[in-house]
Amino acid sequence: MINYEIYKSKLEDRLTTLTSELSEIGLYDEKNDNWIAVPDEEESAADADENESADFNEEWDERRSTLEALDQEYRNLKRALIKIQNGTYGICEISGQPIEEKRLLAKPDARTCIAHMDQEGELPL
Ligand SMILES: [Zn+2]
Repeated sequence: MINYEIYKSKLEDRLTTLTSELSEIGLYDEKNDNWIAVPDEEESAADADENESADFNEEWDERRSTLEALDQEYRNLKRALIKIQNGTYGICEISGQPIEEKRLLAKPDARTCIAHMDQEGELPL
């Protein structure tokens, strides 16, 4: 029997940290339930010469890819918390088998058991 409380508090703690990280580089779009990257205001307001504008583009690309990765984790955490609510937490989405406890401890938002962790990235968002 899984002790949901341990995982729930881990997930909630991480979600809190993640939300503050996300709000530093993006805005939450409530309608679509996702995060959108926003440019650094100081940088974009600067009257940039060519070099600075190249820097800015580079930074902007980086910012967007960071946000994308954090947004994916955000979704995973939310999904895991919903699973706890509806009683499907800790079940591999591929095989339907229980996810090993050591995997859940290392990654509370894991969607698959150890045997199927390679395929986790292929699951729909
Ligand atoms: Zn599995």
